[in-house]
Amino acid sequence: MAVDLHLHSTFSDGTESPTAIVALATRAHLTGMALTDHDTLDGIAEGRAAAAAAGISFLAGTELSVEWRDRTMHMLVYFLEPGGGPLEDRMTALRDSRADRNRRIVECLQELGIDITLTEVTAESGEGVTGRPHFAAVLIRKGYATDIPDAFDRYLAAGRPAYVNRERLQAVEAIRLARASSAIPVIAHPHTLGVSAAGFHDVFEELTEVGLGGIEAYYGEYAPELREHLVDLCRQLGIVATGGSDFHGSYKPGLSVGVGKGDLRVPDRAFDDLIATRPVA
Ligand code: AMP
Ligand code: ZN
Ligand code: FE
Ligand code: FE
Repeated sequence: MAVDLHLHSTFSDGTESPTAIVALATRAHLTGMALTDHDTLDGIAEGRAAAAAAGISFLAGTELSVEWRDRTMHMLVYFLEPGGGPLEDRMTALRDSRADRNRRIVECLQELGIDITLTEVTAESGEGVTGRPHFAAVLIRKGYATDIPDAFDRYLAAGRPAYVNRERLQAVEAIRLARASSAIPVIAHPHTLGVSAAGFHDVFEELTEVGLGGIEAYYGEYAPELREHLVDLCRQLGIVATGGSDFHGSYKPGLSVGVGKGDLRVPDRAFDDLIATRPVA
């Protein structure tokens, strides 16, 4: 019995609709899933309806990019429901800041002599939040990059010529806003934090004191030993060990719903533990 609690759809920078993701989850024999599009809850209604029809348990979620120390941390927020509230109201402002950043990325690319318009990029993202993978797709189509990593290396990654930062919440602020919205904040893929395995305990403990509810302990990019270490830390701190594939369809090739690169298996206990610690609204 397995679940997948980290999935991106066409409502942000994934290439599959929530309904198509539910079909993939069914094929992977998942019992539960969460949709976690960047900065938006717009896909939740469709995902929930499709999951209910397929008999798969469903959690509403989102993934935010937040500032922590001098770097970026990704935070998954579960049980955040569309309809307004302290965190969702801030997310609206963050989407505006993202739109400003996107205009500035287009200007940077044009200054580099690249033939690209914002209209082309927003056509690529369709109904969803526009992110850098959509810029990458347009750059590839027009022959300026060979694939998504190449587009990031040449232009879009931090430190590259068309990189533009955007407004983010502070980690502690995001945790407090999530709790004020009766939602559970969880640190995504903690191996990207630049903290050693030995350093994780203190970082997680400090954030647990302000309301952190879990850690993404099961993730395809780290070894089984690190997954076990993170599960142990969650147990010690009394927070939930979650996990997921970070599926984005063809924007992140090689990752499949439910199994990531192939060896991922998130026990359905992750889903049950989240439900058990769910705050009553
Ligand atoms: P944004 O939210 O618009 O800043 O874009 C973030 C998205 O870009 C995430 O989904 C990442 O998976 C993707 N991304 C970030 N850095 C890279 C990279 N170096 N190569 C490929 N994809 C990346
Ligand atoms: Zn993404
Ligand atoms: Fe992430
Ligand atoms: Fe993600």
